[in-house]
Amino acid sequence: MHDDRAIERLQELVRIPTISRLDEAEVDWAQFDRFIETVARLYPRTHATLTRELVGGRSMLYRWPGAGNSEPTVLMAHYDVVAASDDGWTHPPFAAEVTGSGDDRIIWGRGTLDDKGSLVAILEAVERSLESGVTPANDIYLSFGHNEETAGTGAATIVDVLEGRGIRPALVLDEGGAVALDAFPGVDRPLAVVGVSEKGATLIRLVVDQKGGHASTPPALTATARLARAIVRLNRSSFPSGFNPASLAMLRTLAPHATGTVGRVLRSLRVTKPLLLRIFARSDETRAMIRTTQAVTMLEAGHAANALAEHAEAIVNIRVAVGSSVDEAVAHVRRAIRDEAVTIEIVQPGEPSPISPTSGRAWEAIAETVAQTHPEAIVTPYVQNGATDSRHFTRISRNVYRFTPFVMSRDERDTLHAKNERMHVSSYLRGIEFYRALIGRF
Ligand SMILES: [Zn+2]
Repeated sequence: MHDDRAIERLQELVRIPTISRLDEAEVDWAQFDRFIETVARLYPRTHATLTRELVGGRSMLYRWPGAGNSEPTVLMAHYDVVAASDDGWTHPPFAAEVTGSGDDRIIWGRGTLDDKGSLVAILEAVERSLESGVTPANDIYLSFGHNEETAGTGAATIVDVLEGRGIRPALVLDEGGAVALDAFPGVDRPLAVVGVSEKGATLIRLVVDQKGGHASTPPALTATARLARAIVRLNRSSFPSGFNPASLAMLRTLAPHATGTVGRVLRSLRVTKPLLLRIFARSDETRAMIRTTQAVTMLEAGHAANALAEHAEAIVNIRVAVGSSVDEAVAHVRRAIRDEAVTIEIVQPGEPSPISPTSGRAWEAIAETVAQTHPEAIVTPYVQNGATDSRHFTRISRNVYRFTPFVMSRDERDTLHAKNERMHVSSYLRGIEFYRALIGRF
């Protein structure tokens, strides 16, 4: 059976541990080479018809020549995955075990949702389309990044290459939103949330340098205490909240579908915005949609148990809201910590992405394809909280969207970057149909 082979191919590719590491010297590149070779072997028609280049190291760029020469489509995914140890997994992360039967089958493993599932579904769709003799109307590119989870340089280099060739895609589709269950209070139907923008991923470092000495005669405020105070102050001072045009578009889309209080609130948005901001502030997922967020992710200080630390530092991961900027975020941090002795260094600035349109041919192609393969879902724009490789493509296209065509429950979404990552086999198979149908439109 077609479907059984499609499941086996996904299993085979999930079993290759293409783990991203911040320090690229620690990456096991042999696994990445094996992945590239395995893809070529599993998808022979694709490799006979499409040209493939390796870009920026091991990112893969395929070109499927179309009949015409209007602006092309780019389908994106990445094949590096977040590290995972066996601890706490009910099925080992790189075993790709399938449990259950029929429509309830589940495939377990790191990368099933993020993001090998998409990558393999795209390849399945291309291979099947080739089998049925399809030639796309215009060129289709497949852009598969090899370091999305860390540096993201692979996708950035692909964009450099395409830009150098004067290519301006009519549509870029990357991972991001999904057909999400239980995504919004008061709305029972699944939501096909399509990311039209994403927050900016910025890293800053807070540093305190101070004279050291013996731990038996400490000053009133040690370097570590000063840093801790700054962190507590930052944590107490939330960034201003508000709805950007993309979030408002989402609320307007959902208004007619929401029941109860939420429905009434959404339908009289003009007066209820403050109330709505309070509702959004209640859960981590929705709170992140209305403001810039910060999280101290790393702390470092001290070198001996009986010596005062001369240097204390914290890495703060900031997600800059659409409509705000890195400058605004840093200014907020400076005001919040109220301490000149704490220096703020920008380690990696990342501005929020421009908002892609929610009308026009590219948007409609996605919406109509969802209506075809996931008719139960409401299609809505939204702002993605996490960063994706697609942000680089905003340089060469106005129509950059983030949508993974898989049905994901809240429990499944919680496994992203965490343990027990898994996907329903039926989600995967419908995802293949989504990409096939989308290919047919271009
Ligand atoms: Zn991803």
